Amino acid sequence: MSSEFKARVRDLYIGGGAPIAVQTMHESSPASLDAEKAVEEIYSLMNLGCDLIRFSFSSKEDATNFKYIAKHSPIPVVADIHFDYRLALLALECGADKIRINPANIGPFWKSKECALSALDKGAAIRIGLNGGSLKECVNGEADELISLAEEYANSFEAIGFNNLVFSLKSSDINTTLNANRRFSKLTGYPIHLGVTEAGGLITSAVRSSIALSKLLEEGIGDTLRISINGSLEDEVLTGVEILKTLNLRDKGIRIIACPRCGRHTFDSSSFLKSVEKELNMVKKDITVAIMGCSVNGPGEARKSDLAVCGFGNKVFLYKRGEKIKEVTIDSAKAALFEEIERYE
Ligand code: SF4
Repeated sequence: MSSEFKARVRDLYIGGGAPIAVQTMHESSPASLDAEKAVEEIYSLMNLGCDLIRFSFSSKEDATNFKYIAKHSPIPVVADIHFDYRLALLALECGADKIRINPANIGPFWKSKECALSALDKGAAIRIGLNGGSLKECVNGEADELISLAEEYANSFEAIGFNNLVFSLKSSDINTTLNANRRFSKLTGYPIHLGVTEAGGLITSAVRSSIALSKLLEEGIGDTLRISINGSLEDEVLTGVEILKTLNLRDKGIRIIACPRCGRHTFDSSSFLKSVEKELNMVKKDITVAIMGCSVNGPGEARKSDLAVCGFGNKVFLYKRGEKIKEVTIDSAKAALFEEIERYE
């Protein structure tokens, strides 16, 4: 199950049965970035599984770099707008594939209508992005307020004939996020962007987001997601991709199994994993790779994996579909693993 309607963001579809898209948000304003380097960074994030990237667009000074980034980015680029609808219009002029506006701070609806007319003209999408933290008052409770504003905006946009929409109802509280999204998904067929906002650092956010989002995703709610982490963009993307892979909602790419190490380890599987993890996450083949630290569980996991690296003391053995195929040194293990991945069919 997925949302009934589809939003189109450049060549990416969100909702209506399309694969669930993973997104991230850059921590720096476009104006403060080296635009060429930002595009290189987007390529690298795309290789890790990122489908969409968002930038805050908070002043006219962002225009030049945003325009360059939007033009050269290999994935759709979203402008995040607060308070001033004229910045949304400028971002659309600069090539934004989607804008995110927040009904709680964009002002009277005619301003959003101006944005919608411009987005319609340019073929861009709009996310109505509601956050519990930006609500002015919560007389009826946060979830009710989020739903009521989202519904009001859905109806107002429908009345002016704009429906290339995505909605998000986020809260830093998991139960509010669950409650708001479950109820909103029953009220409309629009695509839903999932996330737990202000979720904290890597561990807190990964845990909170996994718990909340997996419940919704398993109920068929959610068409795109961002894992908000006070940390790196790479971690945001990798956590989002991993949640989808774990739920069997994204089957492209590698599945990594690694032993946590214990007192029996004779091979430092942890350092080895660190040295290969980023490149492994860029592998597009649908394979399982195990990295194991001793002979207790190593051969067993190797039997279940497509490829495995099992270290025993100074020796590292490579397994392919459970069969030992190579013995290498620790120093040459990384190259040997990627050689096997490259030729794996
Ligand atoms: Fe410990 Fe070996 Fe299991 Fe790794 S594979 S956790 S080192 S027993």
